[in-house]
Amino acid sequence: MDMHGLTILPGLTDSHAHLAGIGFRELSFNLEGTASVADLKDRLRERAKQGTPGEWLTGRGWIESRWTPPTFPSRTDLDEIASDRPVFLERADGHAAVVNGLALKLARIDRNTPDPAGGRILKDPTTGEPTGMLIDNAMDLVQHLVPPPTDAQTEQALELGAERSVRLGWTQLQIAGNSFHEVDLLCRLYAAGRIKLRLYDAIYGPSADVQRLLAEGPSINRCGDRLTVRGIKLYIDGALGSRGAALLAPYSDAPDTRGLTVNSEATLLPILTQALRRGLQVETHAIGDRGNRIMLDLYEKAFDSVPVKGRPIAAPRWRIEHAQILSPGDIPRFAQLGVIASMQPSHAISDLYFAPSRLGPERLKGAYAWRSLLDTGAVVVAGSDAPVEKGDPLIEFYAAVARRSVDGYADENWHLEQRVSRTRALKMLSSGPAYAAFQENERGSIEVGKIADFTVLSDDIMSIPEADILRARVVMTVIGGEVVYTEPPANH
Ligand SMILES: [Zn+2]
Repeated sequence: MDMHGLTILPGLTDSHAHLAGIGFRELSFNLEGTASVADLKDRLRERAKQGTPGEWLTGRGWIESRWTPPTFPSRTDLDEIASDRPVFLERADGHAAVVNGLALKLARIDRNTPDPAGGRILKDPTTGEPTGMLIDNAMDLVQHLVPPPTDAQTEQALELGAERSVRLGWTQLQIAGNSFHEVDLLCRLYAAGRIKLRLYDAIYGPSADVQRLLAEGPSINRCGDRLTVRGIKLYIDGALGSRGAALLAPYSDAPDTRGLTVNSEATLLPILTQALRRGLQVETHAIGDRGNRIMLDLYEKAFDSVPVKGRPIAAPRWRIEHAQILSPGDIPRFAQLGVIASMQPSHAISDLYFAPSRLGPERLKGAYAWRSLLDTGAVVVAGSDAPVEKGDPLIEFYAAVARRSVDGYADENWHLEQRVSRTRALKMLSSGPAYAAFQENERGSIEVGKIADFTVLSDDIMSIPEADILRARVVMTVIGGEVVYTEPPANH
């Protein structure tokens, strides 16, 4: 094929994404870019015109840290607009939600309800009444009442998410936690030719599905050659925005809390040791410096207790997802333990608006510290965490090399010394993720003998001015030699 001087990159891989979530974001009430509480209310008013009283109204995507003032929305804000039906609106990071009075009532949450393990029910300091904000595990108290999507809806979301991903130039997504049921739906979609995107899958746990995976072991090329199930996705803490990330010292802007852990060592360690014996990969969400330290300690404990001769794979390539805030002493431990840091460049340019106030200047030095990790010899891979972020490879590439907002803004607190070279950034989105999926012999670079996965761009992002990177267009996406996306002529 004559590519007429376009730029061909190794097929880009998103190391951390939630495929169904990406699709459901398109299908459901999308609150991305909400500018204020007033804007949230306007959108809710519009949305509430659909549906019937009593029916759940759910949505996702708001981020209060960019509002003035940056305060959480409350049940009263929602009750003013919709009080006759339960409302559940997730923050973009999926680690917090605001619900209305009816939802609280249906979940039987009142002033006397204690915080569940690994979660917080925010309460008004003067009245003691719940504000409607639920953090991490407290969300489940309401969320389990929301009717789950039908299989047809989930299939539609997966198909839409896959379509959107190849359009943006991704050739593989590494799914950060789903279920065997979703894997079965994916296999059906592959068989029907409804999705082309490669997927590398981790099953969410602790759960009955993880027990099943521990019994069955990895499943390489599970249904055709585009889907491998090999990982276990675990969580240790929450997120920074909602102050659920577990920190070693209190939050700089909330001295009464150090965040929370959502699973105990007693729960996690047996999963880790069995995974090692089974040749399964473990990837754990860890945001805070305490969360990261707990997991490095637990991984180390597991490695020590299962000697190499007891493992099908000597180097299990376990991962920490996010590795967002690290105590300086823990940075070299990734390379020492052979733990992959799976990070999201876009989180830095989104979170750096509020991270300085949450963390203070000292801790910020170890936050989103890709370069420090690389300098110690750690493998760092990049992903978008979509639908938490947009899920666009060009934004991830740009964030890694520029560490500026998409409008070019950077603050003196943003630690520009953590920027990486374009070659590094490309590796973080191609050969790195291939290694993180045990696929470095088959894909991740353009070489004779490797699978033909390519991302074709309008411009050479390795050399154009930094500010132009985000203006490059995806012209074609090729997976296994098959053209799965071509830019429509109208866009030229
Ligand atoms: Zn995620």
